[in-house]
Amino acid sequence: MIPKSRKMLIVDDIKLNRIILREAFQDDYEILQAEDGNQAMDILYKEKKQILIVMLDIFMPEKDGFSVLAEMKSNGDLCDIPVVVVTQVDEVENEVRALDLGADDLIRKPYDPRVIRQRVKNIVEKKEMEQVRAENHLLQIRRREEERYRIIVEHSGTIVFEWNIENQEFYCSEGLKQFLLYEIVANKTTEKDILLQSVYPQDFALVQEVFLKNLQEGTGTSEITVRLKTIKDEFLWCKLTATIVMNGLIRTRILGTLTIVDKEMKAELELRYRAEFDSLTGIYNKSTFYQKTQLLLAQNPDTNYTLIRFDVDRFKVINDIFGMEKGDRLLKKIAQGLHNFSKDHGTYGHLEADHFVLCIPDQDVDMDAIIEQLNTEFRQFMSNYSLIFCFGIYHIHDRSLSVDIMCDRAKLALQSVKGNYMKRYAVYDDVLRTDMLHEQEVTNEMDEALSKRQFEVFFQPIYSLKAAKPVSAEALVRWNHPLKGVLSPASFIHIFEQNGFISKLDFFVWEEVCRKLRAWLDAGESVLPVSVNMSRINLYKVTLCDDLVKLMRKYHLDTSLFKIEITESAYTENPMQLLTLVKRLQECHFTVLMDDFGSGYSSLNMLKDICVDILKIDMNFLSDFKQSKRSAIILASVVQMAEQLNMQVIAEGVETKEQMEYLRSIGCDKIQGYYYSKPLNPTEYEALLDQNKP
Ligand code: C2E
Ligand code: MG
Ligand code: MG
Repeated sequence: MIPKSRKMLIVDDIKLNRIILREAFQDDYEILQAEDGNQAMDILYKEKKQILIVMLDIFMPEKDGFSVLAEMKSNGDLCDIPVVVVTQVDEVENEVRALDLGADDLIRKPYDPRVIRQRVKNIVEKKEMEQVRAENHLLQIRRREEERYRIIVEHSGTIVFEWNIENQEFYCSEGLKQFLLYEIVANKTTEKDILLQSVYPQDFALVQEVFLKNLQEGTGTSEITVRLKTIKDEFLWCKLTATIVMNGLIRTRILGTLTIVDKEMKAELELRYRAEFDSLTGIYNKSTFYQKTQLLLAQNPDTNYTLIRFDVDRFKVINDIFGMEKGDRLLKKIAQGLHNFSKDHGTYGHLEADHFVLCIPDQDVDMDAIIEQLNTEFRQFMSNYSLIFCFGIYHIHDRSLSVDIMCDRAKLALQSVKGNYMKRYAVYDDVLRTDMLHEQEVTNEMDEALSKRQFEVFFQPIYSLKAAKPVSAEALVRWNHPLKGVLSPASFIHIFEQNGFISKLDFFVWEEVCRKLRAWLDAGESVLPVSVNMSRINLYKVTLCDDLVKLMRKYHLDTSLFKIEITESAYTENPMQLLTLVKRLQECHFTVLMDDFGSGYSSLNMLKDICVDILKIDMNFLSDFKQSKRSAIILASVVQMAEQLNMQVIAEGVETKEQMEYLRSIGCDKIQGYYYSKPLNPTEYEALLDQNKP
């Protein structure tokens, strides 16, 4: 049977002619017939795809063969159908015209069937060949285009995929096969499973909430950057885009791209990390801590929080002694442990140098436990060096303050415990604030005060009960402030001890004392030895003894006139250094007094190693000796012990006759206190000296 698509159209107004042609070709073609040009065109338009060849007569009524030919050749759909024009003998002019209009061949009547069959066969085959060639050419162009497209895609690093929603077919460019996503899609697992298995767990919510939602809602393009699993079981950062292709209201395909952005993303994350986290310790840096804490407070309006700031006491010294590397390791270790305190209810960060900060709910604040935990953890960290942590606490009552200011307040509290060996933490309150302001004021004014000689030296005589007259004096500094009047040392000495200014002031006082002694000696007055106070900061001054000796030389003074009081807390703080210094001072013939004996904790222990010349017992520490028999016994025993150790005793702070008499009864001869005299200004003191001239 002839295939349906092989049709021949015979156009001739003479039936016999049509029959002859039909006879000739009916074995090879399905024959269609038209009696004139109009009929022929109707059939052509209808059957254009199936008609392989047209046999066309020229002379026909109405529309002739030329018109049919012309119309066919000018129509894009019909112009490729071969046309064989049928003519009579002696119609050369018409033949030329037909060929000119695009006829593919001519046959003359009467025809020999074998010849025309062969000629038609040739024409059809030629046409078919041309068609195949054209199709091949097109295919080649398309292949080349695809090749070009593939190369571009492959080089762009982007993987392209297409998901046919209707038939679930999946196409993808090279590269996707390295992802688990592909494996799952190739095995036709459901959408949800693909995501569960191939998306990094932490990114899954994002995929669901943004990407899938966009896709499900139907139109446009959705884009997302997430980690996808490769078949090597590692996750790579990928940028996914997907566009829904619609057919009317029906979603037909999803066209997507996948670009591996792992390097770029990791670099970006690294940058972000560096901006947010402290590079040394790996915890929040200052600005991130501020941000996160602000957020924490805003999100938990009903929880009360406390800010705890802390540092390592004398961290600089640790760096100096053990090296920066060890110092860094210490900071890292501290940072690592902070999560234990904040758990997941708070924030923590590294503010600067050795300053750390925590913001935790009030109910979690147990300072003793925190200190104990840190102490335990760091007991072994530095051999032979016990680490001390100092804490400043700010209870967040006012949330309108910036976290920056809250941290500053905690810092003020922290600073207030510095140098205080009995206290490890302090809470910020208004008293502290006033103290701090005062401290700031004092610090601002001190240099000018010294240069303008606002500091004055007073003298408090020390009496001998046996001699019944003053035998020495203590030099005590006063600040004659132009606005505030005379300030007592209690309001400024501790500040100078912290900021280091005390060594300048001490030296000023010592020189003032020397100047006075020299002046009195030069004036022929009777001169009593004077003891000066020496702050513990001077313990660390290597040139201290030399400086003192130089001072004695400068004013031509005998060291017996110049005694040195060292407060007892200095003894407990650094016994070895002190022991060396006391020895040195004594070698230079200075008398050394232990001031405020009994105020500290290890007085007796100190005495065992350090041989001072004189003990000064402050009566304030034993003020209840009248009521308490025990205090009286202790006082008596100390006096007795000192005598046995060849040390003199001075009782200071003696205010009453009773005290004086008790001291006399236990053999304590030297007495300093309001009972005899307050500290006197130089003029008053000179008057006193005058009275007691031998
Ligand atoms: P301190 O060395 O123990 O001095 C004795 C303090 O007791 C003096 O206080 C003195 O005025 C006071 N005082 C004397 N008799 C009595 C008394 O009967 N009852 C009472 N309640 N107090 C009495 P001041 O002058 O206020 O000095 C306080 C502290 O300041 C001194 O204690 C000393 O530690 C320090 N200080 C004073 N001047 C200097 C100085 O030039 N350098 C250094 N580093 N510290 C100084
Ligand atoms: Mg003193
Ligand atoms: Mg004292």
